[in-house]
Amino acid sequence: MVLRLVDTHCHLDPAYFPGGPAEVVARAEAVGVAGFVVIGVGRDLGPARAAVELASAWPSKVAAVVGVHPHDATTLTDACLDELSALAADPRVVAVGEIGLDYHYDHSPRQAQREVFARLIGLARRLGKPVVVHTREAGADTLALLASEGARDVGGIIHCFSEDLAFARGALELGFDLSFSGIVTFKTARAVHEVAAWAPDDRILVETDSPYLAPVPLRGKPCEPAYVVHTAKRLAELRGVSLEALAETTSVNAERRFRRPFPAAPSRG
Ligand SMILES: [Zn+2]
Ligand SMILES: [Zn+2]
Repeated sequence: MVLRLVDTHCHLDPAYFPGGPAEVVARAEAVGVAGFVVIGVGRDLGPARAAVELASAWPSKVAAVVGVHPHDATTLTDACLDELSALAADPRVVAVGEIGLDYHYDHSPRQAQREVFARLIGLARRLGKPVVVHTREAGADTLALLASEGARDVGGIIHCFSEDLAFARGALELGFDLSFSGIVTFKTARAVHEVAAWAPDDRILVETDSPYLAPVPLRGKPCEPAYVVHTAKRLAELRGVSLEALAETTSVNAERRFRRPFPAAPSRG
């Protein structure tokens, strides 16, 4: 069985990979990554435009997701929302994100984060596209807002899952899948291990969140999509299945969630 993985959440902005994405993508393909969901968020819409451009350049293997990260909530002006709405309507954009709440860093005031999260769930609903959610130390508010803003109508993904079983149940009930990152490879992440072993087969995904969160045994290095293999390996181990089976399950889940196919095998060169 050939290994086929989809990295459902990576940042490939020029700011992170000044040499451009070509080598990074080639290294990932060499180890079995066939699809890349590229997130375009930042202090302005530059990364969102770059993500859409990348998806246009490599339409079969790259999909784009655009949004405003909770860190940058205060940057969302009406003009910015207009351009973001136009970008998000592009057929190469498969979801609105990453959006959500981050009460760990509090880079934007919490009230501003909640308002922007609600507005962008509204955008996703108007477009009929799923949302990619970032949540940190804000589990209760995240679930409450997803529920009150009707996110269930579009569903989506809790990216970089780092919560517990109670949160996971709430998210699944709202129509959200759980995406596991390098955190699942950390020895101390016991609550995440528990959810990783428990979650239903058809609701799990894998991601790198590159350039952040390199998995064990590559801690401290800038993370890149090739490393998703380590995350998938650990997730497979926790679930008692083979790496190949886990890879195929999560890739099919990614295709279902984003409503588009990814290549049946990584392209060569
Ligand atoms: Zn995030
Ligand atoms: Zn991210």
